[in-house]
Amino acid sequence: MKVVVWNEYRHERQAETVTKLYPDGIHGAIKAGLAAHGIAADAATLDEPEHGLPAARLDQTDVLFWWGHRAHAEVDDAVVERVQRRVLAGMGLVVLHSGHHSKIFRRLMGTSCNLVWRVAPNGERERLWPIDPGHALAAGIGPCIELPASEMYGEPFDVPAPDELVFISWYQGGEVFRSGCCYRRGRGRIFYFSPGHETYPIYHEPAIQQVLANAARWAAAPHADGSRLDVQNRREPLERLD
Ligand code: ZN
Repeated sequence: MKVVVWNEYRHERQAETVTKLYPDGIHGAIKAGLAAHGIAADAATLDEPEHGLPAARLDQTDVLFWWGHRAHAEVDDAVVERVQRRVLAGMGLVVLHSGHHSKIFRRLMGTSCNLVWRVAPNGERERLWPIDPGHALAAGIGPCIELPASEMYGEPFDVPAPDELVFISWYQGGEVFRSGCCYRRGRGRIFYFSPGHETYPIYHEPAIQQVLANAARWAAAPHADGSRLDVQNRREPLERLD
C-alpha cells in the first residue's frame, strides 16, 4: 500500500505555537501515527514542484491524505484535476479538518462544503462518537474519542449526504457535527475526518492515529470489480433486436 500525506505546510513554518506542536510538520505527525500502525507513508507539500504530486507519483499512490487551510487557492487547478482523475480511477482520499474547503474536496462533493466554526481561546472539549461501531473506520475505537481541546466544526455542513456516516461529534459549546463521513466517487473511496486544528496536538492522540490508520486501509481497499465503470464504450445487443 502506497500512502502519501499531502500537507500545505505553512502554519508550522509561520506560527511558533504550531511549530512547537508539530516540529516535523503536521505531515510528519500523521506519518508517525501511521507508522505506529505499520503503515509506511511519504510526504508531499504545497511548495514542492507540482505540489509534490506529479502524475507519475500519483499513479503509484493508493491513498492520499490531504491537510490544507490558508493556501487552498494556491493549489494549481491542474493538480486538482489530476487528483480527481486518480480518485475516480480508484485512489483513496482522506481529507482532514480544514481540507473541507480544499479545491479537491469541493470539486468531488459539488457543494460549498461550508460549515459553522468557532475557535475558543483555549479550545473546547470534543467527543467523537462512532455511530457505526462495526465499520472498518471505527476499528479499535472505544465508546468515544475525547479531545480535551478542539476547534468547533458544527452543522449545517453543506455536503451531500454521506454514503456512510461513521462518527458524529459533540462539542462543549453544544453543537454537533458529522465528523467522519465516507463517500464513493467513481472507483475511489473518500473519507472526511474533521478533527485536526493546527494549534492543538490532535494528530499526536493515539485514538486519532488509530482512525487515520483505519482510514488508510479502508480507502486503499480496491473495489471488487473495477470494470463495471467502463461505461464509455458502445455495446452490441446480446439478443437480436429485429
Ligand atoms: Zn482549524
